[in-house]
Amino acid sequence: MPLLFLGHGSPMNAIEENEFVTGFRNIGKSIPKPNAILCMSAHWETRGTAVTAMEKPLTIHDFGGFPKALFDVEYPAPGSPGLAAEIKKIISKTEISLDYKWGLDHGAWSVIKHLYPDANIPIIQLGLDYTQPPLFHYELAKELSSLRRKGILIIGSGNMVHNLRLVDWENPDNGYEWAETANNLLKKRIEDNDHLALIHYNELGKEVQLSVPTPEHYLPMLYILSLKQEDETITFFNDKTVLGSMSMTSFLIDSKEKISNPSYNHG
Ligand code: ZN
Repeated sequence: MPLLFLGHGSPMNAIEENEFVTGFRNIGKSIPKPNAILCMSAHWETRGTAVTAMEKPLTIHDFGGFPKALFDVEYPAPGSPGLAAEIKKIISKTEISLDYKWGLDHGAWSVIKHLYPDANIPIIQLGLDYTQPPLFHYELAKELSSLRRKGILIIGSGNMVHNLRLVDWENPDNGYEWAETANNLLKKRIEDNDHLALIHYNELGKEVQLSVPTPEHYLPMLYILSLKQEDETITFFNDKTVLGSMSMTSFLIDSKEKISNPSYNHG
């Protein structure tokens, strides 16, 4: 399966029609239908690493100050206790705990609903251990690689540029100059496979420091880059800075040659 990093931006993308929603829909149609989805969302930080293991994850409306229509959205995709158990088994770097209290937060459902509007693909989330440095997350992700061969779509949902304190709600269509500079700088490092520089993002200059004031929206991207094989290609989409201090920049990682996977099963 390919890999996806999705810039989710404002929760309003869940119910608006805009160019980003179109981008999510198009990407959903362009890749093989997965057997299940594993999502690392910026909005689930945990002490220790956990995966959601319930049969029916609740739709969590983890935000405030938005219209009722957004709180009314339900995304009733099933969970996958089997996939949660498998992840617990294959990860040796740390103990994985099985969680029965979380569900799907808006980092997951606000974007996945555009890829799979029928909500019929099982989804589990993996929590970001906030006590660990970026390198830990990058190394942990490597242990998830076998899932790709089993039809599991691995999605990181965050934002490469995300400074909530400096958001300019009056300016939905543009980013500040520093946000634009950071977005381009990070894209260049991604294209160059310079993962070491991306792990040590605090050393990439003041524009990147302003763009990543806290790690949670950035770390999901490190999971996805860590899983990239050398010969795979990166395709950027929704590549735009918005609201002053955010970028919607997303990318697909896929093999150059499209090989049909014999273990892949729609059933
Ligand atoms: Zn967010």
